Amino acid sequence: MKAVVFEEHGGVDVLQYKNVAEPKIGPNDVLIKVQAAGCNYNDIWARRGLPGLRVSLPHISGSDAAGEVVEVGSEVADIKSGDEVLVYPGLSCRTCQFCANGQDTFCRQYKIWGFQTGPLDGGHAEFAKVPAFNVIPKPKGLGWVEAASLALVLLTSWRMLVGRARIQAGDFVLVWGAAGGLGSMAVQICRVFGAQPIAVASSDEKLEFCRTLGAEHLINRKKQDVLKKVREITDRRGVD
Ligand SMILES: [Zn+2]
Repeated sequence: MKAVVFEEHGGVDVLQYKNVAEPKIGPNDVLIKVQAAGCNYNDIWARRGLPGLRVSLPHISGSDAAGEVVEVGSEVADIKSGDEVLVYPGLSCRTCQFCANGQDTFCRQYKIWGFQTGPLDGGHAEFAKVPAFNVIPKPKGLGWVEAASLALVLLTSWRMLVGRARIQAGDFVLVWGAAGGLGSMAVQICRVFGAQPIAVASSDEKLEFCRTLGAEHLINRKKQDVLKKVREITDRRGVD
């Protein structure tokens, strides 16, 4: 199959579009024909290499992917070939105390697929192998590209706002970089919970995008005094 692979760390010139062996699935895995895959900063960090970051080489990046299931392992009961799915990229043991109570990010075996897995193994390829537990039916209303764009940023923002900050209806939530991947999810999560996102971005064009996502309070950090605007918006209460 074709894939985007790097065999050493460096700039974009280390990326090679080449033929590699198709992944072989185990009894609890599924094989997906990738229709769309997302890019995250993780992919750039992995390619550049960071001190303390262990990346298996050769490496295929890509933690967000959506596609059609083309093969299922012998133990997989609830997914079949032809299913349209997106990947939930958090891999964990699924049996420890943390996994059992929904805090899989604390699992000692927790890894982000396509970032900390390998060699090869990510979504920037024609085919991708993931545990059956890690695929979710693609919502009918989403196209392939949309479905492949949201998992990692949605999970991260959700964990931050819902799991940790426990946002409530009426809360003012300052979203710095609101037009980016995490920020755009944060704005939408705030709206779902009835909280009031204050979107901060560096251009009017980006803020217009935030407005279409449901942000009513917009601050252009290049043109406006953020602190003063926040005081104004919250009637001097400040953000929650
Ligand atoms: Zn675990």
